[in-house]
Amino acid sequence: MSSSQTASESPRQYQLFIDGKWVDAESGKTFTTPNPSTGETLAEVAEADKADVDKAVAAARRAFEGKWSKMSARDRGRLLYKLSQLIESKSSELAALETADNGKPIKESTYIDLPGVVENFEYFAGWATKIEGETIPVPGQMFNYTLREPLGVCGQIIPWNFPLLMAAWKLAPALAAGNTIVLKPAEQTPVTAMELGKLFQEAGFPDGVVNIVPGYGETAGAALASHPGIDKIAFTGSTEVGKIIARTAADNLTKVSLELGGKAPNIVFADADIEQAVSGAMMGIFFNQGQVCCAGSRLFLDERVKDEFLARFKERAEKVKVGDPMDAATQMGPQVSAEQLARVRGYVDIARGEGATVFTGGGSPELEGNFKNGYFFQPTVFSEVQNSMRVAQEEIFGPVASVITFKDEKDLIKQANDTIYGLSAGIWTKDITRAHRFAKEIKAGTVWINTFNMMNAASPFGGYKQSGYGREMGKHALELYTHVKSVWVDLSGKPIGWYGN
Ligand code: NAP
Ligand code: MG
Repeated sequence: MSSSQTASESPRQYQLFIDGKWVDAESGKTFTTPNPSTGETLAEVAEADKADVDKAVAAARRAFEGKWSKMSARDRGRLLYKLSQLIESKSSELAALETADNGKPIKESTYIDLPGVVENFEYFAGWATKIEGETIPVPGQMFNYTLREPLGVCGQIIPWNFPLLMAAWKLAPALAAGNTIVLKPAEQTPVTAMELGKLFQEAGFPDGVVNIVPGYGETAGAALASHPGIDKIAFTGSTEVGKIIARTAADNLTKVSLELGGKAPNIVFADADIEQAVSGAMMGIFFNQGQVCCAGSRLFLDERVKDEFLARFKERAEKVKVGDPMDAATQMGPQVSAEQLARVRGYVDIARGEGATVFTGGGSPELEGNFKNGYFFQPTVFSEVQNSMRVAQEEIFGPVASVITFKDEKDLIKQANDTIYGLSAGIWTKDITRAHRFAKEIKAGTVWINTFNMMNAASPFGGYKQSGYGREMGKHALELYTHVKSVWVDLSGKPIGWYGN
């Protein structure tokens, strides 16, 4: 399938997935999602609203109290494993749909997104039978132990930058721990989540364990986050909406976990292998069109290597192949939407207004045919940036690196930590002590040393400061989806004695 072929196909149709059935929205409304490389309609999707969210939450509650809670951990794990295999068997089809809906290069959806999705379901399938309590060495004739129990019904709201992978990060640990789910995908990219619904059915998950309600954030998303019938809300997206979610959830004291924005420092010291650092800087900011919460968007360069580094970086940035994301050779596709493109463009004006220089890029590339209407933007580098400028403080969420220079390590750490965010950071140096000193001093949830954007289902990911709270992936993700219950047992067989006998 190529983008030009999808143009001639009639739009795909999707209903809501509630209680194991495919249903229209109560309102009968639908919305469309475009292919961002051409602007043409890819799919027409039922639009969930409050009434549909109510139905989905009720179905999830019935499933939680019914079959799902009675199923053994082993069977839960087996279902998750079966799902991972089904996804793997359909991965080329799913990768093509992800690229058609999101615009990311097919090389990325095939070799990064889909393998990551399979890995997460597989990893958490293994955890289902290993979620254990503890015995606590309390004093006296007492026995104290803990039970790890599922929270219940979890609402999960995800963004458009890694549609299927974000669904996997949220669904896999929640299901392994025995919860049931209402998932709201992003309006820009609902397609692969709906396809995933079909695979949940095929794998044999009981009805209502996973419900998928595509729709708009302000309606379906808000109805889910404020629902008194959910036990937890997990959110990935902007810091701005994360704050709304936290405020909304506070009314019911619903548990919240948030994975929000970032403005990661990616730091190149004078002793770094410059070629390695240039490739890392590119991976840091051009991967997924720069629409990555942990993107290395603040590129800190040691003054002594700035000129050499920038010359090489510019040369490489200008060679990035931008175009048809279905082409296996493409390295950068379009931004996800017209809004995102406008937002990224807006930052070029902001940069100039603040006195930064557009060192390379700064506009849309000239493309042919249908792609003329796509939301493409060039790999872009702003130089002469001060850390206090808006382009260094605000999440641009596009293929735009802001270059800041530093004199020494002390100056660097101060600037690197001078941000409201704290999701990730990268450092390029051959000095092992400096690398580990930095890893300790930087206030961020993930640190990469001589690498960037590395992730694995077994390794935790999440933010410091306004990048959110809670950790996804790894065993830490299970803490987001379980209660710890403490059980006390008297072993003496005697009355308590405090008030006399
Ligand atoms: P967003 O508004 O935060 O969207 C994330 C998710 O939240 C989507 O499913 C969205 O639904 C939903 N949502 C929006 N408003 C809501 C509300 N009031 N209540 C409940 N749910 C709500 O992000 P965006 O508008 O798509 O992108 C804006 C900026 O967010 C980007 O430029 C970027 O800076 C940041 N962002 C960060 C990440 C990340 O991974 N940290 C991911 C995406 C975006 P709809 O899609 O239907 O609006
Ligand atoms: Mg939005």
